[in-house]
Amino acid sequence: MFRPVSIGIILAVLMSLASCKSKGHAAVSKPLVASFAPAVVLEEKVVEVKPDTNQLTPQERKVIFLQKTGVHPEWRQAEAIHYDVRKPNFVIIHHTAQDSVAQTIKTFQVPRTKVSSHYVIGRNGEIIQMLNDYVRSWHAGVAKWGSIVDMNSCSIGIELDNNGREPFPDAQINSLMTVLDTLKSRYLIPDNNFIGHADIAPSRKNDPSVFFPWKKLAERGFGIWYDEGQLISPPDNFNASDALKIIGYDTSNLKAAIVAFKRKFIVRDTTPELTVYDKSVLYNIYKKYQ
Ligand SMILES: [Zn+2]
Repeated sequence: MFRPVSIGIILAVLMSLASCKSKGHAAVSKPLVASFAPAVVLEEKVVEVKPDTNQLTPQERKVIFLQKTGVHPEWRQAEAIHYDVRKPNFVIIHHTAQDSVAQTIKTFQVPRTKVSSHYVIGRNGEIIQMLNDYVRSWHAGVAKWGSIVDMNSCSIGIELDNNGREPFPDAQINSLMTVLDTLKSRYLIPDNNFIGHADIAPSRKNDPSVFFPWKKLAERGFGIWYDEGQLISPPDNFNASDALKIIGYDTSNLKAAIVAFKRKFIVRDTTPELTVYDKSVLYNIYKKYQ
């Protein structure tokens, strides 16, 4: 059975990568050895797990692979003491476009797919964590939000079991809220940074679908929504393309960006043109980003 990577193992990997053996300044390296001592213990524990690599799970093999890479012994090694374990700053919500949680878990476990997410949430509300929050999962693919092109490195991916043509049951959304609450408070993720896969890859992706309740989420501080009673026409010089770009959308394919925006905020109409009403919604949201 698949086992989530423990944070201890990840810290051990990161620390072991950062604590390369110093052949230079003994005076500098001594106190560092002490500060990294717990990592050494954890590292040993990792290696001790199952020395026969044939018996290791894919995750354990990956940890050992990481321990052997990322260090270039042909170059001089010195120790820096300032570094961080990465913390997620975005949450990307997906629908699986598959028929069951079991199918999705299997997809994330077979080597050829090269995809994964941190969490899978079933229609019945079951929450399955598949990767540690600090690990970079492969859920975003080619994507862009604002100036960020490597969304996997800064985000948590959540897959909702849904075929893309059906509503999301309350039990599933309630569990999602629980996960989002936890992530938001633990990592101080800003409201605006709870977004969908289609937001960051509008030319390629359409998830989550029009059935996803973005308004309900925004009311809880996950994502944003427009002020429905305060819509006004934008000024004559309002540039819709620039507004989408300022919100975060990649407008290199403007029609795709408009469809992604409308799937989320207009819902009933996802044609690739902005009506007068659509522009008033866009203007209202854009003002929140100024
Ligand atoms: Zn997706």
